[in-house]
Amino acid sequence: MKYISTRGQSKPLSFSEILLGGLAPDGGLYLPETYPKFSQQDLNSMQSMTYPELAFHIISNFIDDIPKNDLKAIINKTYTKEVYAFSRSQQKAEDITPILKVKDNFYILSLSNGPTLAFKDIAMQLLGNLFEYVLTKEKAEINILGATSGDTGSAAEYAMRGKKGINVFMLSPYQKMSRFQSAQMFSIQDPNIFNISIKGVFDDCQDIVKAVSNDLDFKRDFKIGAVNSINWGRILAQIVYYFKGYLAVAKNNEEVSFTVPTGNFGNICAGHIARMMGLPIKRLVVATNENNVLDEFFKTGMYKPRDSKNTFHTSSPSMDISKASNFERFIFDLIGRDSKKLNELWKSIDQGGNFDLNQEGIFEKIQAFGFTSSSSTHEERIRYIKETYDLYKIIIDTHTADGFKAAYEHTDDNVPMIVLETALPTKFEDSIVEAIGQKPERPESLQHLEGLPQKFEVLDNQVDQVKTFIRQQV
Ligand SMILES: *Cc1c(COP(=O)(O)O)cnc(C)c1O
Repeated sequence: MKYISTRGQSKPLSFSEILLGGLAPDGGLYLPETYPKFSQQDLNSMQSMTYPELAFHIISNFIDDIPKNDLKAIINKTYTKEVYAFSRSQQKAEDITPILKVKDNFYILSLSNGPTLAFKDIAMQLLGNLFEYVLTKEKAEINILGATSGDTGSAAEYAMRGKKGINVFMLSPYQKMSRFQSAQMFSIQDPNIFNISIKGVFDDCQDIVKAVSNDLDFKRDFKIGAVNSINWGRILAQIVYYFKGYLAVAKNNEEVSFTVPTGNFGNICAGHIARMMGLPIKRLVVATNENNVLDEFFKTGMYKPRDSKNTFHTSSPSMDISKASNFERFIFDLIGRDSKKLNELWKSIDQGGNFDLNQEGIFEKIQAFGFTSSSSTHEERIRYIKETYDLYKIIIDTHTADGFKAAYEHTDDNVPMIVLETALPTKFEDSIVEAIGQKPERPESLQHLEGLPQKFEVLDNQVDQVKTFIRQQV
């Protein structure tokens, strides 16, 4: 299995060769040259598999340069009930992504039972183990540099803590994360995790990361790498739970639909690939919040990213994204993997422009790919959190509430709908209190999180200070 770039100008590479990198040299994103296909019979045989068995069965089709037994061991140590311990009381932790029935034909797929209480753990934990394996084999090291406004950074740190050959330097805006989020990151005491609090906003952090990565000498000398949302390994890990969710609810090989709270389009891209692999998915519903660039695209064919000044800060903050970094992967498939065409479209995007697939006569194809969309407002999220609690005694977080709004709009009779739960409500306490007048339950082991000792460095908003800090530590 080789991986090709969406822009068509990079040489095909194997899994381990693309694992640690970001963009392809031609600026594109990597995708497998073909998608493995699963028949209905295959699906039936997967019914009785545990999560790690299922993960191995699917993931091994995409990796041919790690011996099968090694891959199996990596997967087995990643997906354990000890790591995904925060399931609801009526669920089984060993299911890793257990299903929760809300009502007839309407389910939640719980993806947020890992250490940072958000779905990113599912992929990041696997990535941590894969990185360590590949680096050990190559006797290499990596210094991961990233910027976070909360979720991604903590998922990366919890996945990489204590791993051989890996240091993490994570920039976050000084005093601008929630108390819970800061405590989650800063309480990590492992010597290979460095939290850097920058006196600035999130965009400043991101600019510093870009500036450091663009200094090619520094990047080479200090082996700077990333774990951003375009990493193929993350998408790959996420394909698995679409199968898991399907197998948990589908009777007699029927179709099911999925609704996905969407930001960078990584999660739903995995759903798209699962569908291309033969999983009977009727609809893939893209749920957005007030930052509804993708909803606009799926309704009109016009893709018009916005800059950070036109991106709102909302109560589902992990979806406050107006330029979805994985969208290019889907469009590549939509236009029949025509990289010449893709280059034309993204030439415009990379220059701050837009494109209109309606004009291009390609937009009708969206239907055949199962996609549809919705957006929601803060008031709607609050209403769905309250209603879901009043009717079913289930507390959902604000991102999952975006999902509920979208799912109700796009449910077909007799087709089970599965909403992906992308975070646990305790991460967004304020909104939950606003909706139902009480705090959601917090897992016992996190009760005293904010009181734990914290380790972080405060630096000015200056590239050189960050470089000096990295130099001193490695
Ligand atoms: C990251 C995140 C999302 C968005 O996922 P994408 O893969 O970027 O589309 C949604 N909800 C939560 C809670 C997240 O952390």
